[in-house]
Amino acid sequence: MNSDDTNSKPRSPATIVTHYGRDPEKQYGFVNPPIVRGSTVIFQSYDQLKGHKRPYGYGRHGNPTNDAVQSTVTELENGAQTFLAPSGVSAITTALMAVLKTGDDLLVCDTVYEPTRQFCDSILEKMGVTTRYYDPTIGVGIEKLIQPNTKAVMVESPGSLTFEVQDIPAIASVCGPKEIAIIADNSWASPLYYKPLDLGANIVVHAGTKMFSGHSDIMFGTITTDATYEKRVQNTYRALGVCVGPDDSYLIARGLRSLELRMREQGQKALEMAKWLEKHPLVETVLHPALPQHPQHDIYQRDFTGPGALFSLILKPAGEEAVAAMVDDMELFAMGYSWGGFESLILPVKISSQRSVTQWPHDGNLIRLNIGLEGIEDLQADLSAGFERYRQMANIKLD
Ligand SMILES: *Cc1c(COP(=O)(O)O)cnc(C)c1O
Repeated sequence: MNSDDTNSKPRSPATIVTHYGRDPEKQYGFVNPPIVRGSTVIFQSYDQLKGHKRPYGYGRHGNPTNDAVQSTVTELENGAQTFLAPSGVSAITTALMAVLKTGDDLLVCDTVYEPTRQFCDSILEKMGVTTRYYDPTIGVGIEKLIQPNTKAVMVESPGSLTFEVQDIPAIASVCGPKEIAIIADNSWASPLYYKPLDLGANIVVHAGTKMFSGHSDIMFGTITTDATYEKRVQNTYRALGVCVGPDDSYLIARGLRSLELRMREQGQKALEMAKWLEKHPLVETVLHPALPQHPQHDIYQRDFTGPGALFSLILKPAGEEAVAAMVDDMELFAMGYSWGGFESLILPVKISSQRSVTQWPHDGNLIRLNIGLEGIEDLQADLSAGFERYRQMANIKLD
């Protein structure tokens, strides 16, 4: 089976990630795509050069290894085309530049990934684009914020620190008729569990660095567009000179093969862990949309088909020395940014500095966890011991 097999009925995501982007007959029967390194492509005749009659013309504009990733992600997202970027941030900034020009207005959810905010408040501002932030739970209420020059809405569902789920169909019901582009950061659920284009978004971006890679060994980004925005994204992408190397694409193509398996395993473990944490006396709240008491659980149930591996919890208030006592001596949970890899990570986060139009209501310490592939009992023992260090340092009495 190859990726041009369009007559057949839609395949399951597990089949897509396993089979797409491979064509063994073109590579002497070897299963995987070759890593094609190159800038120059040689043409055999003037006619071929002039008529763009080669499938590839120059290294920056694509190569067979990159195609393996593009065709798989396009199929998973139900998009028209996918463009590859050297990081998730680069995918986001390229998508924003593609749909905005001087004089335009952009609406961005208040829970957006912090570097996205920085780009809007610096580069877009310099370009003469205004950015206004909105409450991620706004839904159809976004209508009240729309001005004649509003040209795009950036959604991130759920937010990657506090996990508010956005109502993309409601936002699309307002923005669609006004031809306002909806750009969705879909890194958390991956296209296996959430398909923003099907729900009315126009462009989907991913930090391929996270779940697509799965191995914490690469920086990568993807932009998938619907047919309406394909040309605009392509023009901006090319004008900016964005491209990725084939070695990086190869690692992502390999990561994608096990995406379904990892999402399933890590998502289920994360949910089990979230339920276990809810019962711990030191834990005030667990922020995972798959939990029934999550404030937007109904939207999650309607629009998502599975849980992500990343979530947060809020501990009973205590000073920073208690947080340090907990995280400094973890045995399995490593402390670090990023997520989506096979290994569990722990990250203390301060929220108040990252919001401008909504108020974060909690004063307990927020801890974000990426649940990896380790044994869950081992992870729970590690957390239990960490909680006990926190409790002792803060002198919290549990009844
Ligand atoms: C990490 C992340 C990004 C940025 O990806 P990089 O590859 O680090 O540039 C964007 N969005 C979300 C939700 C992320 O977690």
